[in-house]
Amino acid sequence: MTILITGGAGYIGSHCCVTFLDAGYDVVVLDNLSNSNTASLTRAEEISGRKLVFEQGDVRDQATVETLLKRHECTAVIHFAGLKAVGESTRYPLAYYDNNVIGTHRLLSAMANAGVRDLIFSSSATVYGEPQQLPLTEEHSLNPVNPYGRTKLIVEDMLRDLAASDPGWRIGILRYFNPVGAHASGLIGEDPLGVPNNLMPFITQVASGRREKLNVFGNDYETRDGTGVRDYIHVVDLVEGHLRAYHALSNLDGRDNCFAVNLGTGDGYSVLEMVKAFERASNRIISYDFVPRRAGDVAECFADTKKAQELLSWSAERELHNMCEDTWNWVCKNPKGYSD
Ligand code: NAD
Ligand code: UDP
Repeated sequence: MTILITGGAGYIGSHCCVTFLDAGYDVVVLDNLSNSNTASLTRAEEISGRKLVFEQGDVRDQATVETLLKRHECTAVIHFAGLKAVGESTRYPLAYYDNNVIGTHRLLSAMANAGVRDLIFSSSATVYGEPQQLPLTEEHSLNPVNPYGRTKLIVEDMLRDLAASDPGWRIGILRYFNPVGAHASGLIGEDPLGVPNNLMPFITQVASGRREKLNVFGNDYETRDGTGVRDYIHVVDLVEGHLRAYHALSNLDGRDNCFAVNLGTGDGYSVLEMVKAFERASNRIISYDFVPRRAGDVAECFADTKKAQELLSWSAERELHNMCEDTWNWVCKNPKGYSD
């Protein structure tokens, strides 16, 4: 069985390659390397002791995608490729609609032509928007508040329409909460370009001395210490959820051939709790300042995990200290990321 992993050279995709190679699948990666490096794929091969196929290309190039699906006789696609920064999406919305919406449309058209109709799609908890009640269940209203989230919702809707039109499609939509951490080997991890937008890579760079201090966005939220609370999930748990979701596709029948499920831990941690946990894991001091809230942030966001347990027989196993220790191990072994 050969799986096409789009965006497989990226942070989550490279961990997914390891999980699927370890599970015995053949893997073909399609990536345009706009936010990654082939070193992650060499490392994924090193961890698993197996080879994968890398094809440099763009998901928006329908003919190329169709050709490679046929050439490698792929049976399913896991679709990570896309742009993911909320702030950037407000400045460059067209780039986001192009990459995420048009890119997925072209990919689906190529899949339809090649007769490949099993798909796992990377969605995001961002599709829920401002939480009306917590924990967030999959039935919560979908009301994203930024262009990035809207591109994910448009794709979700497109997938639901496609599945309804043809019982041959089997589609799993996975709504990620906050992926962090790295493979325990320290060979692959998150390697953001420029100033990190997300909390964990920022904390990491303060711990390693690349940045002086963390700006904590807001200490006046109605949370236990006033700082924002999120559901951080270890990236290896997250990609194991993809393997379970892929297996769950074979249990779908024609009437109910598309599911959406949260991938989170169900636990929320505040920014200050993350700082403390990282200090313990790294034995470094993380200096920080409180600054005003970041526009568009919500106070709290964490997952209801029941559906994932019932449908996928999956729940996250790794704890906050594993997330911090594995991140620190990756950074200590690769202080300049993949460019070392
Ligand atoms: P990433 O940027 O590390 O990986 C994305 C990969 O896709 C990169 O290797 C990039 O080069 C490639 N890519 C981008 N556009 C492409 C295109 N048009 N054609 C081919 N390749 C292309 O990001 P990630 O953190 O691994 O995220 C993967 C997916 O998960 C994304 O769809 C993202 O929206 C989603 N997601 C991520 C998070 C998160 O916090 N990391 C949270 C929720 C959802
Ligand atoms: N955050 C922060 N400083 C940073 C980056 C993030 O205080 O430099 C806070 C942010 O306000 C939120 C939490 O950390 O409460 C997680 O933010 P992140 O951008 O990692 O994830 P998201 O907002 O997408 O859930």
